[in-house]
Amino acid sequence: MSDDALTELRQRADRLDAEHVATDRRDAFELPEGVTYLDGNSLGALSLAARDALRDAVDRQWGRQLIRAWNESRWWTAPERVGDRIAELVGAPAGSIVVGDSTTVSLYKAVYAAARLRADDSRRVVLTDPDSFPTDVHVTRGVCDQLGLTLELVHPTEAASRLEGSNDVLLAAYSHVDYRTGELWDLAAITRAAHDAGALACWDLCHSAGVVDVDLAGGGADFAVGCGYKYLSGGPGAPAFLYVAPAHLPRFTNPILGWNGHATPFAMSPEHVPAEGITRARVGTPPVLGIVALEGALTAYDGLSVGDVRARSLSLTGFFLDCLDLLGIDLPVATPREDTRRGSQVSLRHPDAYAVVQALIARGVIGDFREPDIVRLGFAPLYLSHGDVLDAATALREVLVGEEFARPEHRRRDLVT
Ligand SMILES: *Cc1c(COP(=O)(O)O)cnc(C)c1O
Repeated sequence: MSDDALTELRQRADRLDAEHVATDRRDAFELPEGVTYLDGNSLGALSLAARDALRDAVDRQWGRQLIRAWNESRWWTAPERVGDRIAELVGAPAGSIVVGDSTTVSLYKAVYAAARLRADDSRRVVLTDPDSFPTDVHVTRGVCDQLGLTLELVHPTEAASRLEGSNDVLLAAYSHVDYRTGELWDLAAITRAAHDAGALACWDLCHSAGVVDVDLAGGGADFAVGCGYKYLSGGPGAPAFLYVAPAHLPRFTNPILGWNGHATPFAMSPEHVPAEGITRARVGTPPVLGIVALEGALTAYDGLSVGDVRARSLSLTGFFLDCLDLLGIDLPVATPREDTRRGSQVSLRHPDAYAVVQALIARGVIGDFREPDIVRLGFAPLYLSHGDVLDAATALREVLVGEEFARPEHRRRDLVT
C-alpha cells in the first residue's frame, strides 16, 4: 500500500464527510478518545440527551415529584409517546407502536397475537429463519409448542416459494436484517408472498430501525418488533418496541393480560377489558427510566429524515468495502455488496475471528465476534465518519499483516463476546 494511495483514501474520506455533513450527529454522543466504535449495532453509544433525560428523571422527577411524576412528567403515557416517535422512523402511523418490554417478550406477544388472529383447523404452520438471532427462533418455537402449531425453519430466500400456492401457513416471522451477515431482506416482497397465501407477516427490526428506511405501513407488515439499545442508543437493556398494524388492533389479543393493557387500569376491576388501540399491548408498569433514556436518545433524529441517515449508512459501509479492496484486505465478506441488500454493518469471515476482534479492540477499534467465524463491524451512521471508517480499515490491515490475532492474550474468551 503506497502512501499515495492512503492519501487518496484520506482525501476521499474527507470529501464524503463533507457531502454527508447534514447527518453528522457526533456531538450528540459521548465517545471516548482514541476509540473507533463499530459496535453501535450491539450497544449504541451514550447519547448526551439520554444522560440528561435520565438525570432529570432521577433527580427532579423521582427525587422531588415522587409519585406525582406519573402525571406531571407523563410517565404513564411514555410507552405510547415514545412509540409514536419510533413510528416516524419505521414508516408506521401514530398509535401503532408501544415501548416497554424486551424484544424477546415483544416478539412473544406479536407471534402469539398473530396465531390467535390467523390459526384455524387447516392453518397451523409458522415460518421463521433457521439463521435468525436465537431468541427469535426460541420464542417462535415456544408459541408453536404452547398452541399446538408447527414451526417450519425456512430461510428467507426460500420463504416466497414456500408460501406460494400454500394455504397452511398462518405467519411468516423474519428479521429485516440478518444479525450475523448484515443481509437486508425484502420486507415488502416476503410480506406480499405471505398475504397472497393468506398468512400474516411479522418483522424483527433490531438491526434496521433507525438506519434503514423501514416502511412498515407501505410494506404491509402486520407486526414488528425492534430493539431500543442498538442503533437507537437507548442504553443497556433499553426497552424494545412492538408494532401492531392498526387494522389488527381491534382483535389483538395480548397473551399477558395485565393491568397496564386494561381500558381503565385505575378502576381496579377484576374483569379484564382491553384498552382501545396499541395500549392493549401493554402489560405491567413500564420501565420508566429506560423509556426516558430512550426518549432522550431519539432526539438525535430530530430534523433528520431516515432516508438521509440511510444514505449516510450506505456511504459508510460502501466506503469500508472499498477500503478493504484498496488496502488489499482479502477476507471473505459475508455482507452483500449491493446497496439494496445491505444493512448497516459489514461482516468478514476469518478462522480466528474472535482473536481478530480482540486484536482490533486492542487498537481501539471496537467491533464484535459472532459464531462461528464472523468479525462483525456495525456502522452507526449518526456518530461515525468516513474518516473513522478508514481508521478501522487500516487497523484491520495491521492486525492481519502483523498477525496480531495470533497473540495468546487475544484468544482468552470472556462471558460476552
Ligand atoms: C439484539 C436482538 C435481540 C435481542 O433481544 P432481547 O430481548 O433484547 O435480548 C433479538 N432479536 C434480534 C434479531 C436481535 O438482533
